[in-house]
Amino acid sequence: MTPKRLVLIGGGHAHMVTLANLHHFTEKGYEVTVIQPSDYHYYSGMGPGMLGGTYHPDDIRFATRKVVESKGGRFIKDKAVTIDPDGQIVYLQDSQEEICYDVLSCNAGSYVPRDTISTESSAIFTAKPIESLLKAQKKILALSQDKPIHVAVVGGGPSSIEIAGNVQQLGKWNDIHEPRITIYAGRTLLAGKPAKIRKLARASLTRRGVRIVEGTYVETIEPGRITLKDGTSHPADIIFPAVGVKPSPIFGKSGLPVGPDGGLLVNHQLQSTKYPNIFGGGDCIYFKPQPLDKVGVYAVRQNPILYHNLMATLEDQELQSFEPGGSYLLIYNLGNNEGIFCKWFLIFGGGLAFKIKDYIDKKFITAFQAMERDIPS
Ligand SMILES: Cc1cc2nc3c(=O)[nH]c(=O)nc-3n(C[C@H](O)[C@H](O)[C@H](O)COP(=O)(O)OP(=O)(O)OC[C@H]3O[C@@H](n4cnc5c(N)ncnc54)[C@H](O)[C@@H]3O)c2cc1C
Repeated sequence: MTPKRLVLIGGGHAHMVTLANLHHFTEKGYEVTVIQPSDYHYYSGMGPGMLGGTYHPDDIRFATRKVVESKGGRFIKDKAVTIDPDGQIVYLQDSQEEICYDVLSCNAGSYVPRDTISTESSAIFTAKPIESLLKAQKKILALSQDKPIHVAVVGGGPSSIEIAGNVQQLGKWNDIHEPRITIYAGRTLLAGKPAKIRKLARASLTRRGVRIVEGTYVETIEPGRITLKDGTSHPADIIFPAVGVKPSPIFGKSGLPVGPDGGLLVNHQLQSTKYPNIFGGGDCIYFKPQPLDKVGVYAVRQNPILYHNLMATLEDQELQSFEPGGSYLLIYNLGNNEGIFCKWFLIFGGGLAFKIKDYIDKKFITAFQAMERDIPS
């Protein structure tokens, strides 16, 4: 009898427990394949800190290929582009190989829409994938040797303030000309967030010289220049589009049921509403029982349920339901070892907020990196 095949698209935050337990699948004789465009998965919560130089890339990434192969799975460095849910096949971007599955789990994350970018350029870095923040850091350091450069951050949300604050830190911590940083925040900075968060973020950023432009939106982004809807045009040597994220486009292209945002439509069991052998977690899903914010917290909470349900489907056992849980803790890293802590009505800024985030994030990533250290090289 041919062994049943489990395929994972993306080794993101919601697949960490499944990856940690991959040997339980292979020991039972199941074939496991993991598809991901990079050998590493980067922990997004620490991405802005890597940009600012607080963390080294090795501190914030998980060696997916190494772990998968050490546990008897197959790792394919490629991107899944479409799924044929009836034929049970995943198609790849660079390879002609058809990846067949009996059970499929999708954790392909989200991307920053590029609609306003008129021409692609090596000086434009979207907030995702997190790897692009590392490339941006290198470019800023190189360009700022001779003169101060203009850095534009497009968008007024959490990732925008984190990027701007950490670029400021990068300039301060290195022997370079400090960049002139502008956030093009749209209507207003952190629209929809509590007034206290908005005030703390604004105070920290403006005190450190970050300019915030509000009341107008960016019309087009082209290499070296930002044009606003009010008709004005501004120089920008480095541009970070950070205008929010959309779920991976794979599902709509594959004819799978999707939610209003294009995410894989899943039920309480994190299972496609039409195909019971397809599961998903993290930013790439639309959780039908209640829409979820695109934050890593939910991806992390989905881990044990996804792991259980993948194994249960292979073994014809009962599935478990995912309960999103109540309010979650969010801490923004503003650079300069400053943060903003937000949980329920407790909101405060400063060094303690950053220290708490640093502690929690390091604890999370270290727990999973421990798997890599146990692998003989
Ligand atoms: C700058 C920034 C900072 C953030 N900080 C925080 C924070 O502090 N706390 C918080 O809770 N949330 C934070 N978020 C939100 C958080 O990033 C997301 O909610 C979280 O990354 C979702 O995890 P995920 O595993 O679904 O997606 P991702 O982290 O994006 O992981 C997806 C994985 O799938 C892979 N992949 C992508 N496309 C494909 C494909 N086609 N085929 C195969 N593999 C693919 C990717 O390489 C990646 O490894 C932040 C977001 C940004 C942009």
